[in-house]
This record gives sequence, C-alpha cells and structure tokens, in this order.
Amino acid sequence: MSVVPILQYHSVSDDPPEWAEPLTVTPRHFQEQLDLLRDAQMSVIPLRRLVSAIRGGPPLPPRSLVLTFDDGFSDFYWTVTPLLAARELPATLFVATGAAYPPGGRSSGSRLPAARMLNWRQVAGLDAYGIEIGGHSRTHAELDVLPGRQLRSEVEGCKRDLEDVLGHAVSSYSYPHGYHNAAVRRALRAAGWDCACAAPQAFSSTTDDPMCLARLTVRHDTTAAVFADWLRGQGARTSPAPPETLGTRASRLLRRTRARWPGRLR
Ligand SMILES: [Zn+2]
Repeated sequence: MSVVPILQYHSVSDDPPEWAEPLTVTPRHFQEQLDLLRDAQMSVIPLRRLVSAIRGGPPLPPRSLVLTFDDGFSDFYWTVTPLLAARELPATLFVATGAAYPPGGRSSGSRLPAARMLNWRQVAGLDAYGIEIGGHSRTHAELDVLPGRQLRSEVEGCKRDLEDVLGHAVSSYSYPHGYHNAAVRRALRAAGWDCACAAPQAFSSTTDDPMCLARLTVRHDTTAAVFADWLRGQGARTSPAPPETLGTRASRLLRRTRARWPGRLR
C-alpha cells in the first residue's frame, strides 16, 4: 500500500473575502509550500493516476502526492496556474458550476457567498491547458441532507454543465463541505462519476475507497512544520476511514432538520 497525501486548497490570494479567509492561503505561502514539495522530492501525480492505482493500475512512484483545488476561485487562473506551470505540476480543479459565470454575465446560482469566481471561458482554457476539471456540485449544497430530485441536480446537472462546456466526459467529484453518505455515493455512481474526494484530514492510500478519497485541507494557518510533517507521512491518520460515528450521524440529522425548516433551528 502506498500512502498518498491529497492536498485540498481553496483560494490562493492576498485579499480574500472575509468568509473565505480561514481556507485561503497567500501566494507567498503557496510558493513556499511548492518549494517544500520540491525539496522533499515529492512526485506530484494527477488524481486520475491515484484512482487508476487503487483499481489495480500501474504502481505509483515513491513519495506521490496529489494537488486539488475546490470551488473555482478566479485566483486559480491568475495566481495558481502560472505557479504550477513553472514547476510543471498537475492538479485537479473542482468547480461548483452554479458559481462559474459566462464572460460578462452572471452566475446561475450558488450558495457560496460573494467572491471572485472563474468564468466558463477560463474553465475551458484551464481544461485545454491540461488541468483536470472536476465537479463540486451546482450550488455548493450539503448533499447528504437533500431530497432526491435536488441531489440529482447537484450530481447529474453538475456533470452536464461541465461536459457541455468542455466537450468531453469528466469523472472526478469533490463533496461540498466534505459531506456524503451512501445515498449520495450511489447517486454519484449512477450519474457516471467514478471517484470523489472528501476532506477528513487524513492521508489517502492505494487501498482508499475511490468514492470517498481522503484529503488534507491546507488552511491559512497551516504552518510549514505541519506541512513538512505531511510530506513525511506524519501528523494524520491514513484512510480508509473508520465507520461513521454517532456524532457524525447526529450532526447530519440536525443539518437535515435545518435544511427542511430553515429558521427553526440554529
Ligand atoms: Zn467547496
């Protein structure tokens, strides 16, 4: 079994909106982290390569690591891609399709608070350049508390949105907020997604479940020491995850109640 850190980034910016600050890394810190990857001689591999290894494909190079970016912030185009390109590093970008907008137009709707997001022309350009584009729902809803019809829109509709723009199939998904359950995973498989990333703050591995790949979230306060530990395979457990706890199930029940009767429960 190979242990593989899958890093989860969001925005890379010096001036994020306040709501996004905890999950935003400054460009300077991001460059320092890329330098740490280089110094630790990590092999940054495409997410698809890990999924293939999990399914019995070619073994992974030693010290493999995967880079992923959630939501579709516009700084991925202006800041992240040039830094990745200079180092020839692959990455996967998960787009909440309701937050991306046509050039000059408005987005079709997402629950994410206001932020500068990618437009569809930029998403298509990133795809043509070689960034893997994956799905991250349409509206960034908590999928595990949605009724069936809405769940299908977030899962099937997101796939259709991306494939219409890119002109080819997409197969990698990332759960908004990391929330998923058996019904969500079933809906994903039925729609043709063949892998999905969660965010349990754990290392992934070649024995991980492709429909709930573990990731490590890089936050604004992730120190160089913590980051360097991850590159040594330390500081987190390794997936597959233990069975869902009672606490996780209780929290879903509360969120489901909130989703059905907004305003009743805080
Ligand atoms: Zn997200």
